[in-house]
Amino acid sequence: MKKHNFTAGPCILNDLVLKDAASACLNFAGTGLSVLEVSHRDKEFDAVMLEARNLFKELLDVPEGYEVLFLGGGASLQFYQVPLNLLKKKAAFINTGTWATNAIKQAKIMTQVYGGEVEVLASSEDKNFSYIPKDFVIPEDVDYFHFTTNNTIYGTEIRKDFDTKARLVADMSSDIFSRPVDVSKYDLIYGGAQKNIGPAGATFVLVKTDVLGQVDRPLPDMLNYQIHIKKDSMFNTPPVFPVYVALQTMKWYKELGGVKVLEKMNLDKAALIYDAIDSSKIFRGTVNPEDRSIMNACFVMKDEYKELEKEFATFAASRGMVGIKGHRSVGGFRASLYNALPIESVQSLVSVMKEFEAKH
Ligand code: PLP
Repeated sequence: MKKHNFTAGPCILNDLVLKDAASACLNFAGTGLSVLEVSHRDKEFDAVMLEARNLFKELLDVPEGYEVLFLGGGASLQFYQVPLNLLKKKAAFINTGTWATNAIKQAKIMTQVYGGEVEVLASSEDKNFSYIPKDFVIPEDVDYFHFTTNNTIYGTEIRKDFDTKARLVADMSSDIFSRPVDVSKYDLIYGGAQKNIGPAGATFVLVKTDVLGQVDRPLPDMLNYQIHIKKDSMFNTPPVFPVYVALQTMKWYKELGGVKVLEKMNLDKAALIYDAIDSSKIFRGTVNPEDRSIMNACFVMKDEYKELEKEFATFAASRGMVGIKGHRSVGGFRASLYNALPIESVQSLVSVMKEFEAKH
């Protein structure tokens, strides 16, 4: 039976990319060696890293003055590394979920050691992060304003680049390459590469170079973006295989027509699932409709049908639906619609939902 992979992570990959990755595991770039065993100092991998960094910039139409890095440590390390490198006096945050909470916590730890201030402008914790706060003003005197563009767990998303004079920093772990971004507004964009780019193990960082080197605290080499830039993202052993697969994914994105095309595909997929939820007698969405994510659609059974949740989970699994269980903080179901998920999978899930509904 065909499986439809709605998992929230680590990642889903296109079949062509997977086939390429499988073949490179046996013979990488004609070397006769596996990509898993080549030296990251070999010219063949050097070319992969360079092309991956350049293609990342090309796809997001990145202006001059930015660098792309593929590092280790996940987005979770960036929660500390970003303020360590960029926060001089004050950074502002909005708290839109677990990952934003973690980013705020790590920035506060940094300021406890080295000074500086963290201001939380708004939070949606009062309603279990089911909406994006709107009632806040971004102060213009901050070093940067940090936000999480897509709240993977709760299914809310900020699909715009804020209109402010403040410099922006964003965690785009779960919606990078899902829409065009005005990179010129950002000092830094980071994320775990594992949702929309490649397998777990690489972290992407897109940083404006002239904002670096302005803090006077000592930076450990591994946490210093300037050191990684100087070494062309190979200061230490890079995540070779994830970067290789990331490059294949980005080549596929380019062939498809780039992020505008991906955005259209994602909007179409999201419309299908949200229409099914909104017109359903038994399901309901969990978030404020205008804040809905096009990457993670969260839904539950209406109160009067609550006892059917387990039965639906079993029924959907028997029809090949994988990974639709909601995160424990929300419950119910979550269909993740990352770039590599084909629309046919969403059509199949919608049919399964309708078939189940017809039975009850
Ligand atoms: N930020 C967001 C939006 C995420 O979805 C995740 C993981 O799912 C993280 C951060 C944490 O990423 P990592 O596991 O790479 O540290």
